[in-house]
Amino acid sequence: MKNIVIFGAPGAGKGTQSDKMIEKYGLGHISTGDVLRSEIKNGTELGKIAKGYIDNGQLIPDDLMVNILANVYDSFGTDHKGVIFDGFPRTTPQAESLKKMLAERDHKIAAMIELSVPEEELMARLINRGKESGRSDDNEETIKKRLNVYHTQTAPLIDWYRGEGVHYHVEGLGTVDDIFDRICKVIDSL
Ligand code: AMP
Repeated sequence: MKNIVIFGAPGAGKGTQSDKMIEKYGLGHISTGDVLRSEIKNGTELGKIAKGYIDNGQLIPDDLMVNILANVYDSFGTDHKGVIFDGFPRTTPQAESLKKMLAERDHKIAAMIELSVPEEELMARLINRGKESGRSDDNEETIKKRLNVYHTQTAPLIDWYRGEGVHYHVEGLGTVDDIFDRICKVIDSL
């Protein structure tokens, strides 16, 4: 079982690379951003709470996120090939909760793959994506807030996962296929 955290700033290519990993390795996939957007679309209570945070470029409180995550993880059953965590964890308490949730099931994270992309490139990609995605948070002002949240609240997880001995750095510049090849080398080595 290869449970993988795909990690990086907004615009690093986590979603794009997740799609390719799902196809090649038959992994499950949890994107907390997608889960929240679907809750908003369905007009649920959670969706109503989440919308305010998302539109403002802020993170949803940890306790709400952790509950969602365990439910989605269990929907893959107990003997899956592995699940990709995309957009989770985003804070140290989330990483600790994920570790605990997996340990309770005798599972663990095999790799945290950090997609590293320079700031100007992230900005350019997100502005570009905003033209097509229709995402309410892909506008310049909110993108800046999200990048700031990434640096202050999420980037410390790189050291946290280094401490766990499962951090892998992958250069996130180049063609989608080049980047995917680098990711495959990591996954195949696990
Ligand atoms: P994403 O699609 O991963 O870029 O997420 C879009 C937005 O959803 C983020 O800017 C946050 O507001 C919210 N979100 C997604 N995942 C998380 C998480 N793990 N913790 C808190 N907020 C999250």
